[in-house]
Amino acid sequence: MSENGHKIEIPATIVVRDLALKIEKSPIELIKKLMSNGVMATINQTVDFDTAAIIVAEYGFEAIPEVVEVVKEESGEVPYWRRMIAGEDTAKLSLRPPVVTILGHVDHGKTSLLDVIRQTDVAAGEAGGITQHIGAYQVERNGRLITFLDTPGHAAFTQMRARGAQGADIVVLVVAADDGVMPQTREAIAHAKAARVPILVAMNKIDKSNANPEKVKQQLSELELVPDDWGGNTMVIPVSAREKKGIDDLLEGILLVADSNDIRANPEGTVVGTVIEAQVEKNKGVMATLLVQNGTLEPGEIVVAGSTFGKLKALTDFKGQPVKQAGPSMPVLVMGLAEVPSAGDIFQVVETEREARSIVEQRIQDAKSQAQSKTKVSLEDIFERAKAGEARALNLIVKADVQGSLDPVVGELNKLSGGEIGINILYAETGNIGENDIMLASASSAIVIGFNVQADVSARRVAEKEGVSIRLYEIIYRMTEDIEKALKGMLEPVVVEKVLGRAQVLAVFSASKLGKVAGCKVTDGELRRNARVRLFRGSDMLFEGEMASLRHEKEDVREMRQGFECGVGFKNFKDIQVGDQLICYVLEKS
Ligand code: GDP
Repeated sequence: MSENGHKIEIPATIVVRDLALKIEKSPIELIKKLMSNGVMATINQTVDFDTAAIIVAEYGFEAIPEVVEVVKEESGEVPYWRRMIAGEDTAKLSLRPPVVTILGHVDHGKTSLLDVIRQTDVAAGEAGGITQHIGAYQVERNGRLITFLDTPGHAAFTQMRARGAQGADIVVLVVAADDGVMPQTREAIAHAKAARVPILVAMNKIDKSNANPEKVKQQLSELELVPDDWGGNTMVIPVSAREKKGIDDLLEGILLVADSNDIRANPEGTVVGTVIEAQVEKNKGVMATLLVQNGTLEPGEIVVAGSTFGKLKALTDFKGQPVKQAGPSMPVLVMGLAEVPSAGDIFQVVETEREARSIVEQRIQDAKSQAQSKTKVSLEDIFERAKAGEARALNLIVKADVQGSLDPVVGELNKLSGGEIGINILYAETGNIGENDIMLASASSAIVIGFNVQADVSARRVAEKEGVSIRLYEIIYRMTEDIEKALKGMLEPVVVEKVLGRAQVLAVFSASKLGKVAGCKVTDGELRRNARVRLFRGSDMLFEGEMASLRHEKEDVREMRQGFECGVGFKNFKDIQVGDQLICYVLEKS
């Protein structure tokens, strides 16, 4: 190869014609050159990198492997770790252990499975027998490591994604063989799919006499997780956490999935990763578990995590052993951060404390302006965002009262897809809108559509905080009309709801003129006489409308602030009970 030849990038395989174009030679000449090197190829055939390298060297070029650009996937979302290594030299990337999280319906055996997997590892047992719970652990299988995140459930998983991180490379979906696919199974699948993380199914409780593996496989197939023994590409591995059966197969399955996903990092590259958990401990200060995703972390380094930073004093692995280094996919417990970062915060190593301080200041500033601009995605702005190249599809989470209305709603929505802006339903399920729906929407820049359902009080609160829009409908054509207009950029700014305050009902009085009155304490914000109110009992909304009266110690008042008690009457409604919650809001043009 020519010492001072021009460098040209060549992919793993290249068509002869394209190779000729690259070095500006005629294809005929190139074919002859190939022949003289013993390679018979026509103009439309491909040659591999090594062959191409030899040929181009004869013309004085130095072939270097083409940097494969990270392909943006359908929803515009790229697995988090790929973004993290995007700036790394591809030649320096090496395979790293897969990071696995376990999701699934409650009681299907997530915790049991995590415990059994932890115990199977001899290496972990040798080191004193006791492993520390630091939020993640590693096991060895066939000389290879697998990292498990120790907090099962999609709340933790999605919370991380909502913060911009994604700890896991692979999701193990636990489905109990006796119980089958349940609502949280479907929810977990939606969360994993939204994150574009491959799913492997652990069919647990296979020891039970009423286990029905075929039924589970059928249900999974209906959810587009077709088992590999049925011709699909989802691995479904029968296990029993109780009898410790199938665990080896599961670990092997995880390694296979890892292999087909080519999970890499540069151990010598920029040190970045995700905060798994953190808390303050007596006499020790802030203890944080960091999952390194690229580079190698060492004691003494200065780390910025979320909006805090510090010089790391010591690193400890999950066995409680001090370690001098933590490479890609290794979770370590660290001491030295000034404040407690949040799970899901991204950390990085910087050179100086000064640099750390300025990054933190910038982040705090960003967080403030983000809080001001609040709404991440709304139906009104989807067209503008699509035009600006920020979105290619409108991501939706759909909740409806019953299956009978969910199916037509989803059907109608799907009919609207196909235009320039597609519709991508991340999750459709029956039931009220809950916190989990909002977190999934927040993490996936989606909006939540409710059909004949309500949003729980807690869901509304989280939606406000996360800037997630919720649209509630009772008539299908109203919904399709809105969405159609939004996709064409024709949706008028609508009135949006602004919550003024909340109150709790402490007593119920009967007043002769006013009828039933709720004796309330304003728990936050304020109640305003001419604003609108909703009354909730648990997650059920019993009333939505206007106040008939707002009084403080028998005086009519216009507003009542946080911490004060007042009497509230409702127009045409008197079914009030102690413990009910009030939300007071106004409608404003957005
Ligand atoms: P999680 O809520 O998904 O974390 O479920 P747990 O791990 O807490 O398990 C729920 C229940 O199922 C517990 O009573 C376990 O003992 C039981 N369980 C878990 N795995 C198995 C299994 O393989 N076979 C049987 N028979 N029971 C299991």
